[in-house]
Amino acid sequence: MILTRLLLYLGIFTLIGACATQHEIDDAPDQSNLWVGDSAEYRAISTQVYRAASMALPALIADETWSAIPYQTNTEILPPAIIMDIDQTLVNGVDFQLGHEPPFTAQKFDDWNASHVATPVPGAPEFVKLARASGVRVFFLTNRYCDATADGSCAQKVIAVQDLNEAGIPAEDADVSLAGERPNWGSEKKMRRDYIAEDFRVIMLFGDDLGDFIPCVRHRPVAPCTTGGTIANRYALTDEHAAYWGAGWYMLPNPMYGSWTSVR
Ligand SMILES: [Mg+2]
Repeated sequence: MILTRLLLYLGIFTLIGACATQHEIDDAPDQSNLWVGDSAEYRAISTQVYRAASMALPALIADETWSAIPYQTNTEILPPAIIMDIDQTLVNGVDFQLGHEPPFTAQKFDDWNASHVATPVPGAPEFVKLARASGVRVFFLTNRYCDATADGSCAQKVIAVQDLNEAGIPAEDADVSLAGERPNWGSEKKMRRDYIAEDFRVIMLFGDDLGDFIPCVRHRPVAPCTTGGTIANRYALTDEHAAYWGAGWYMLPNPMYGSWTSVR
């Protein structure tokens, strides 16, 4: 009798324990946010990416036939430049991801960025400094959306430039481009890469999303793309460009968000 009651109590407490554990897991921040925010592994990977890029830099500057844009021509006559994404490539927004109330909106992100001091992705400020000291122009291309006024200015650009400077990456207006800043500059970055490639030999690309390197990889196509990305065609495009990864193209890890989350 006593043994039966004891076993019953044990069973109830085990059940309560299991419920509490499940509840805590459901309430806990997403593991991917914690990984970016807390893990030494994240710091090690971004440091590794920027170190590898630093080591590759002299050879890519010296080779006047080299471009990180597969179809770029006339490279010999153009000065070298690097194109870098901003969020989760240079500036770490994990604190926003950990703290904001879903759903995500651009307004919440802008407000948060305007009121918090930006922190860098580890290794990024040192790399940008090295690239500039080596005579390379550095451009920052973000898909933060510019809600432009009649004169073309926007508050979002002021915030983006400020965030880079706060993160220890000196930047001016001319270095930064936002989606929507010009009529044909949408969230597909190809047009902005091509615009820079008219005047510069683009020797390196940096990003945390496949779209920072390859066009038309989002689930929902945006102009000028007519077809969207799928898991299968993104794999195929990634393999097709295998020679660029780690040799001109540098991907930073972002398990928190990105175009990968919506493709099927
Ligand atoms: Mg990004």
